[in-house]
Amino acid sequence: MPKPIICQVALPIPLRRSFDYQLPAHLAPEQLTSLVGRRVCVPFGGKKQMIGVICSTTQDSDFDLKKIKSVITLIDTQPLLSTPLWDLLQWASVYYQHPFGDVLQQALPSALRKGKEATFKAQEYWEITSTDADIIETKRAKKQYQALLLLQKKSQSAAQLKVQGISRSTLNALQLKNLITRIEKQPEFDLNWSKNLQESEDKPNLTAEQAIAITAVNQQNTQFNCFLLEGITGSGKTEVYLNILTPILKMGKQVLIIVPEIGLTPQIVQRFQARFNLPIYLKHSALNARQQLDTWCHAKQGSAAIIIGTRSAIFSDIKNLGLIILDEEHDASFKQQEGFRYHARDFAIKRAHMQNIPIVLGSATPALETLHNALQGKFHHLHLTQRAGSAKPPVSSLINLAGLPLQSGLSPQLIELMGQHLQKDNQVILFLNRRGFSPVLMCHECGWLVKCTRCDAFYTYHKKANYLHCHHCASTLPIPKQCHDCGSTQLIANGVGTEQLEQTLQTLFPSYPVIRIDRDNTRKKESFDQYLTDIHQGKYKILLGTQMLAKGHHFPNVTLVALIDVDGALFCNDFRASERLAQLFTQVSGRAGRAEKKGQVVLQTHHPEHALLQELINSGYTQFSRNALCERKLAQLPPYQYQALLRAECENATLAENFLNLCRQILMQVCNEHNITDKMLLLGPIPASMERRAGRYRFQLLVQSAYRALITQTLQRAIEAFTKLPESRKVRWSIDVDPIDFM
Ligand code: ADP
Ligand code: ZN
Ligand code: ZN
Repeated sequence: MPKPIICQVALPIPLRRSFDYQLPAHLAPEQLTSLVGRRVCVPFGGKKQMIGVICSTTQDSDFDLKKIKSVITLIDTQPLLSTPLWDLLQWASVYYQHPFGDVLQQALPSALRKGKEATFKAQEYWEITSTDADIIETKRAKKQYQALLLLQKKSQSAAQLKVQGISRSTLNALQLKNLITRIEKQPEFDLNWSKNLQESEDKPNLTAEQAIAITAVNQQNTQFNCFLLEGITGSGKTEVYLNILTPILKMGKQVLIIVPEIGLTPQIVQRFQARFNLPIYLKHSALNARQQLDTWCHAKQGSAAIIIGTRSAIFSDIKNLGLIILDEEHDASFKQQEGFRYHARDFAIKRAHMQNIPIVLGSATPALETLHNALQGKFHHLHLTQRAGSAKPPVSSLINLAGLPLQSGLSPQLIELMGQHLQKDNQVILFLNRRGFSPVLMCHECGWLVKCTRCDAFYTYHKKANYLHCHHCASTLPIPKQCHDCGSTQLIANGVGTEQLEQTLQTLFPSYPVIRIDRDNTRKKESFDQYLTDIHQGKYKILLGTQMLAKGHHFPNVTLVALIDVDGALFCNDFRASERLAQLFTQVSGRAGRAEKKGQVVLQTHHPEHALLQELINSGYTQFSRNALCERKLAQLPPYQYQALLRAECENATLAENFLNLCRQILMQVCNEHNITDKMLLLGPIPASMERRAGRYRFQLLVQSAYRALITQTLQRAIEAFTKLPESRKVRWSIDVDPIDFM
């Protein structure tokens, strides 16, 4: 008797191993080829069933054959993922130290995770069943005759027929006479779109810098090359993208475009649609499962010319990928902060490398990691230093807040300036990165503050919703009537959030409508779209928001941009805080004075002498970023060193800290065994900067080295020992490779 085939199946669970299953004996031999990469439904635990993916097969198993359960169904008839994507996900699983089953889980659209077929929804088609004689006989019933002539050529969907004037009642009548029949089949899509490619005539003459950048990419666009397009806001980066797409699309190759947030920047999609008469499909979280699966299928079969999506679109399986563009490459949303903690930019570069295709990263404010690679010559560095068209760069200045009377954080100077801009019928943007009415509620008698009982943080006061809200654990509390310390009823809102500023603005500028854009009032995507339209039509004159408003919007009538309060970021212990502030400042400045109107940017601070602010005001991001790189080098921080962060959290602080101490010992042992102790730095465990969050104490252990591969190898060697520690089951722990957030 032949030995049964044993499949190692990756399951969507956070365990670093696969599970063995037997294939049912009744499968025909032709069903047993190319098993790896096919989905299976398997029993798991008691009566549970799970969808997993076959990772490898063998005819020997360490386990007793009788004890190995059988696969319930083999879902796919061929591997679900193409080889390049499969290899990439395997690489990511190793590099990010994340279980392969869960990596697959994240990479697949939800419908596929649930076991749905990787096909389009079948559509209703009509087929002819009549003879020529029948057709002639219907000649007097004009519509029916017309329908039969159409269907005689080829079967068509009800939708296609409707466009040609054939109604449902005509189809029903013909069906009753048995002249046509209804079938369900997969819709057909044009795979040869590139033949019909036409570019819209409506495009600007390129600037010299744009032309140079475009030529540089187009001359080397058939192999791996990573380009950094460093271009100030308004310099026409999108125009560059559009021009480098054309030759790729003409070759019949597909393009993948990754953006931080589609819901927030519908303009970018519209610009691609306006330029090319090609099928463009989107992938982002606001789409339903069916739409996401459709995009997946279009990418895979090649009927999508362009795929535009957010972070996870980087996992699209694309038949003939020719180019990746990643816009706003510095954006923090590209890093997934939980579970599979990948960075879409780094994954994209790896993907381009493995598939030997070009990739273009674009930003006005490149991440220091990216900039470092470009300055070292690993990436081709392309520059756009001038604004395109007639737009002029804004002027920026500081307002020293020291000793000034403030109204909800607004200085008299800023209020006056706003008045001047508004009177000229221009729009004004105010940035305040704090939502709610005020960040704390305080006792006016004794200074007691309302603190979250589960976090090392204060509750934010939300006046309109009338509750206190912890922005870290999402718990809420009714507004207390009295101070818990002294019993006073005088509780006052301390500090300014967007909600309060909005109120003040309405009193200060009653004739200029204010719109507030933050997470509290844009939960629905439709409302955000509506706001954007209203802003463009000039319905609002004062735009107030958190950094949501800084992301790539074009508001041509905005001439004044003000940052209300940036001092928090100046004295933050996160070494990336200054980089983030510089990026925010520069991105925000880019919103001012886009069209013909010159813009003005104002920054309010108590520390006008601060070196970072002076540098930003006087020399801008280019200078800042180069200097910041020198500082990072001196301080031995990324990008000159690589990092991985082990985190552990638990209701019991000692358990969390202990676990990391044991991890540290294991890591030291591994380093010793491989003689790399001098090349690896272990820091910690130390408490996280917010030590307690949602009731758990949080600790972290930092692993650092100038050699990326050493971090990967060391963690890989140590991780099994971590999982075997009994303590590992008592705490929540994770590994974050290339962490960007140390909160
Ligand atoms: P970025 O993405 O760099 O901020 P965009 O590509 O959005 O810049 O371009 C900013 C504005 O300039 C847009 O309105 C765009 O249509 C316009 N623009 C781009 N390139 C040119 C050009 N060569 N001539 C005139 N206008 C241009
Ligand atoms: Zn009190
Ligand atoms: Zn909390």
